[in-house]
Amino acid sequence: MKNKNTHYKKRVKFTLKMKRDYTLLIPEMAPLHFRLIQPILSRQGFRVALMGGEGQEVLQKGLKYVHNDMCYPALLITGQMLSAIESGAYDPHKVAMVITQSGGGCRDSNYIHLMRKAFEKAGYPDVPFISANIWGLELNSGINLSPRTLLMALAGMIYGDMLMIVSNQVQPYELHTGDTKQAVDRWIERLGNTFAKGRGFLPKAIDKNLKAIAADFAAIPVVKVPKVKVAVIGELFLKYSPPGNNHLEDFLTEQDCEVFMPSMLGFGIYKTNGALEDLRLYGGKPVKKLVLEIAMQVMFHMEDILIRNIEARKEFTAPERVNTLKKRAEGVIGIGNSMGEGWYLAAEMLELAEHGYENIVCVQPFGCLPCHVSIKGMINKVKRLNPRINAVDIEYDPGATRVNQENRIKLMLAVAKENLQAEQVLQNDFLSGTE
Ligand code: SF4
Repeated sequence: MKNKNTHYKKRVKFTLKMKRDYTLLIPEMAPLHFRLIQPILSRQGFRVALMGGEGQEVLQKGLKYVHNDMCYPALLITGQMLSAIESGAYDPHKVAMVITQSGGGCRDSNYIHLMRKAFEKAGYPDVPFISANIWGLELNSGINLSPRTLLMALAGMIYGDMLMIVSNQVQPYELHTGDTKQAVDRWIERLGNTFAKGRGFLPKAIDKNLKAIAADFAAIPVVKVPKVKVAVIGELFLKYSPPGNNHLEDFLTEQDCEVFMPSMLGFGIYKTNGALEDLRLYGGKPVKKLVLEIAMQVMFHMEDILIRNIEARKEFTAPERVNTLKKRAEGVIGIGNSMGEGWYLAAEMLELAEHGYENIVCVQPFGCLPCHVSIKGMINKVKRLNPRINAVDIEYDPGATRVNQENRIKLMLAVAKENLQAEQVLQNDFLSGTE
């Protein structure tokens, strides 16, 4: 029977029986984080593969089944999923797709229906789609994650944040090329082994490991020459996914910049805060409120451990706590503006500029109304509040060429380099006592 609301035949559930021999295909977003989360799911008996397809062929597959005015991540991920199933690497009758559902007003809530429809049209109506969410949407008997597993996944995210933040601040200055990458790989392997033994996810262990990670990266020999510092902010998937943002981080590294990527945990707290705010304003089930409040407390505790361990080392710049960011947004944009990346983006721009990352690339997908409001609508306002902000918004869609995007970023970097040189002249004059 057709589902009246979504226009696909039926929802295929992922059952306990399927868990034994199905492969879960997950779109890879942040490579470091997902490399850490993969062994946690494997430990629970899931066979997991990450998908990271890119290029015109993948996009054309997405465009064939998804309307081109849909937001770019939906289109790209649909293309990645169809490419994976048609690649011959998996049995099309033994795969299930995993996709996030944010539960809010953003289109991310509806991707899953869109993709089921696309798969039905493409001739794969029996592929189960699993919704990854914390709101209790679309339950599947084959997905019975214990609180312990969820805590482990959260720990994976925190370790991923730590490795991403400290490695980005060491790699551009390393004395011996490759030292930082080796340290990242070593830690991913070590943490993967720790998770496999069912350890490393409680606050005490996380604290101990984060301390050791910070010490390890701080000990890598570096030559601290002044470099242009650039932060990347914007829509969640595009910000972290190299196929989504045309390998933006690599490009900025090639341009001799130090790159700052905000933490994923911060975004998780921002999202949960938004859901709690909605409950406060519009009401809802008390049990949902209780679950969210507990989740919030756990995340606040983890946030504190993460930030404390970064702040403890003078070599590193730590991200701000979400509650501090929230204060920054006040008077700039309404806190109720929580669709997509909402108020978080404006607050991040102000925070990053104050910590030396005033050059900012804001990535936004074509067809994303929330990002148009919270990036394009906010850039001029935050620039007025902090004239040092040198930001450029880059749009991603199937027709946008990488060369064009990179040229626009290069223009922003030209201004950043001029500013850096002027700053150095001033500093030298000050040190030599001339005016
Ligand atoms: S934030 Fe924008 S691009 Fe991302 S899912 Fe929502 S509508 Fe789409």
